[in-house]
Amino acid sequence: MGIVVGGYARISDVGELGDGRDGEEGVTRQKDDVHDLVKGRELILHRMYVDNDLSAFKRRVVRPDFQDLVNDLDTAVISGVAAYNIDRITRQPRELEQLIDIYATARRPMVFATTAGDYDLSTDDGRFNARLYVMIANKFSADAARRVARQKKAEAVQGKPHRGQRPFGWRSGGVETEPFEAELIRKAQRDILNGKLLSEVHAEWVELGVVSPQTPAGKPMSFTSVGYIVTNPRLCGYRAYVPQQERERRGRVDPAEFLLERTDGTPIIGSWEPICTPDEWRAVRDVLKARKTDGRGRKKGSTVTKRMLTNIARCGECGRGMFSAIYTRGTVSYEKYVFFYLCRKPEGGCGGVSRSGPPVEEHVECVLLAHLANLAKDSRPGKAEDDPELIKARAELAQVEADMVEARQLREAGEFPLGEFVREIKRLEGKRDELSVKVAGLNAMGPQTGASAAERIIREWKTYTAPMKRAVIQRFIEAVVIKKQPRGGNHAFRPDLIEIFWKK
Ligand SMILES: [Zn+2]
Repeated sequence: MGIVVGGYARISDVGELGDGRDGEEGVTRQKDDVHDLVKGRELILHRMYVDNDLSAFKRRVVRPDFQDLVNDLDTAVISGVAAYNIDRITRQPRELEQLIDIYATARRPMVFATTAGDYDLSTDDGRFNARLYVMIANKFSADAARRVARQKKAEAVQGKPHRGQRPFGWRSGGVETEPFEAELIRKAQRDILNGKLLSEVHAEWVELGVVSPQTPAGKPMSFTSVGYIVTNPRLCGYRAYVPQQERERRGRVDPAEFLLERTDGTPIIGSWEPICTPDEWRAVRDVLKARKTDGRGRKKGSTVTKRMLTNIARCGECGRGMFSAIYTRGTVSYEKYVFFYLCRKPEGGCGGVSRSGPPVEEHVECVLLAHLANLAKDSRPGKAEDDPELIKARAELAQVEADMVEARQLREAGEFPLGEFVREIKRLEGKRDELSVKVAGLNAMGPQTGASAAERIIREWKTYTAPMKRAVIQRFIEAVVIKKQPRGGNHAFRPDLIEIFWKK
């Protein structure tokens, strides 16, 4: 009777032992070796277990087929393993001990076969040999890993950008900034310095549908990612180097703890385009850190950012404008929708109607775009330049910018006390941001019914920020009335409970 074994093969990511057995070709050869090994012996191959491109040395790496192999050994599906070499199976003493445990307690004949010879794990000698070999392989891997780490550090010291996925804010290659993302970061930094909470920035980014190259597909960007992005030292050009073992031990770490310095103690500056200055970077970090240590939660009475339909959506029961709120973190609703619209009693509403946000917004967007497509079909083109609203908004914007210049001049001349100056600048900045959005929105859409403008909105809709979408919606829609959902039944979104009133 032959013993049933599992064959194991693995491709490694580092040319660990220089045995030329890495890569796809290496796996084919390992498989051939296993088949030869099994054939020459009284062994029956249950199946091959193959893990791709994973090092048997790195602790945090999960090897799904290796886990299956261990399970099948443990549950007596197989009674042994066959591989090219023991170091293909594991380079972790911890994992070897797992195998030794199974072999030691098994009440059936077991085999541990490699082309370099068998290990009899039921004897002291066999276990000693196996442990010694794994230890040596482990040492070789650690050396190889150190070689790679040294190489990466050498690049870091030269200020070369990080390898791998592009960081949020930069184009791939990590040298040139990505204008839209870089501007988002700058705006977030300004907002944070002006008192906005990180959670509000997060909500805004989620609303805008912002994701980073590191965000898992289909998921919104996480709160921690936003914090990581707006405080990262690479923003101001500082080059950090986080050793691989730190990453593996601690997961995501604060790169600011690992800034590289020249021998004179000055920071090493990367060769990429910065997004802010070191002072700005430090200021944002300080503000966020201070808030954390203050234990200060949400500011009292802070105005929550306006969502696409805030105050455009109206309660179907009492007719008041609706607000938005975030679902409780960790709930299914939060995972699925993040936020909802609601009629708020504290704002004088009846509190009787609420609805998950994204489905309503999507519905309104679809209906609006269909409406615009109709307009585009049967009207003549018009010029944005002639739009009186746009002319007015531009004039107002110019005035605000002039006021800011004047305020700064007065401050420099010492005629403006600091406290008052800061208050005034903040007010003007708020006004300026509001007007910029309005001008951009009007610019994008042109006068009321221009066909080319409608077409452009449809074409560019996906690239619009939420405030721009708001501006367009307000231009065409008087109100979106959300009617009360009948009690009971499922909670599927019902477009028939949404009524849109168009502007005449
Ligand atoms: Zn109401």
